[in-house]
Amino acid sequence: MGMMKALGGLIFVAFAVAFTYYNLQPGEVRFYNVSVKLPMFLLVFISAGLGFTLPVIYYQLKERILISREEKLYRLLNLFWRDYLGKAFEILRKFLTVEEFLPFYIRTKKEFGESLDVQLDLYSKGIAETALAELTFRHDLEEAKILLENALGKNYKNQRARKLLRSVYMIYGEYEKAENLQREVLKEVEKERKAKEERVLASILAEKYMKEKDEIILKELWNLPISKTSGALLSSMVGGGEVFEAAYTLGILPEVIKIMEEKNFLTPELLNLIENYRHAIPDEVMYYVYLKLNMKEKIGELNINLEELRRVIEKGGEFLEFVRIWECEECGKEYTEYNSVCRNCLGVNTYRIKRGERSDNRPFEKTG
Ligand SMILES: [Zn+2]
Repeated sequence: MGMMKALGGLIFVAFAVAFTYYNLQPGEVRFYNVSVKLPMFLLVFISAGLGFTLPVIYYQLKERILISREEKLYRLLNLFWRDYLGKAFEILRKFLTVEEFLPFYIRTKKEFGESLDVQLDLYSKGIAETALAELTFRHDLEEAKILLENALGKNYKNQRARKLLRSVYMIYGEYEKAENLQREVLKEVEKERKAKEERVLASILAEKYMKEKDEIILKELWNLPISKTSGALLSSMVGGGEVFEAAYTLGILPEVIKIMEEKNFLTPELLNLIENYRHAIPDEVMYYVYLKLNMKEKIGELNINLEELRRVIEKGGEFLEFVRIWECEECGKEYTEYNSVCRNCLGVNTYRIKRGERSDNRPFEKTG
């Protein structure tokens, strides 16, 4: 390799010497009244040299700017994740022209208790509206709805906004709109999340069916993967046994049965089916089932773990409708009755039956 380099260098020097020898004659360069006479070879060398040097300087400067920006970004993320929000905020201000940074910015502002006002018209991708909606929906759902509709108006390819707005529509009971949005979500969903989003569609359609009783909806429901809501609806129909088995496999059978109880889908015939899966259903849920079917003699055999429910039963069932038997597995919020969407985090299909919590039950103890 060294030899090749030396040879290349030698050829280059030989060429330069020969080029100089043949181009010693003067060349004239003029600008206005000034004129300079220089040997031709020198003029060629100078112009070729400048042609190389200027782009190199230009790209090096550009790279230096990029590196300093990258360092700033790294510093920003580092401060943010180590929770030095004040320092992070100072750097964030420099990135405010980039819409993708706005969610960080307003989150930090919220942390400082500052107003979340930002100039939304500066941004065009709908990220700003989506981020604001995520921060405001808990105390102003109507405002969040407007923000999300605006976000989708600016850039319809915004899965985050679609999913949030779909949940908001579900809370308002606007199932047609929720359904249309969810179909858009499914068109572009990444394959890892497809089944989850199909279950969301199943819940929307089940809710819609319960409201409108349109048979066409049912046809599609039978072909979708089941959700807790659609599972409860389909279980109460002919062929429901299959749905029970599917719900059992998915580990959502207790929820499905409790929803059936709440929606008045339970019948004495269904009880046989339920008893087949008795081992998978907590006593808390069975309590509601027996109560609904007026089988008070069965209730004595139950061993209720949920402290809140136990206390209400001991007092003769007074305030039963206030027992928070549901909890959201995403945000932990507790509820007294089932809903497909959690108002506290906008998660869909996230409610589950609360775990038993009796103090004399150690958490890791196996009960068989
Ligand atoms: Zn939640």
